[in-house]
Amino acid sequence: MTDYQQTYWEHIEEGSLWLQYCSHCQRYVFYPRRHCPYCPRENLEWRQTSGQGRVHSYTLVRVSALPEFKDLVPYIYALVDLVEGIRIPTNIIECAVDQVRVDMPVTLATIKREGRALPVFKPFQKQN
Ligand SMILES: [Zn+2]
Repeated sequence: MTDYQQTYWEHIEEGSLWLQYCSHCQRYVFYPRRHCPYCPRENLEWRQTSGQGRVHSYTLVRVSALPEFKDLVPYIYALVDLVEGIRIPTNIIECAVDQVRVDMPVTLATIKREGRALPVFKPFQKQN
């Protein structure tokens, strides 16, 4: 695992989602990598995201090809648009499969799979 992949996963383990940011392009970068994909610069900085986003699209997984997800079926696989402008593939948890909607606000959570934390999202509940 590279240093930048390790940094990403260490933050996930702590329950927060950090992304690389290119100060030249003023854009977040996902997935973690050595260079900015929009310009040739290295030395991307790390910034903590809000963990807030909206469901861009989703599908229901009834048969998982991934052994580590077999006990979760049926589960919601989704693309989530973070407020930071990044689209991330993920799962939606704590949401009935008939309740998920496109544009639904979601917030970061993590699940443990085989001893490792993975970033997932759950419905965002406004606090009164
Ligand atoms: Zn750049």
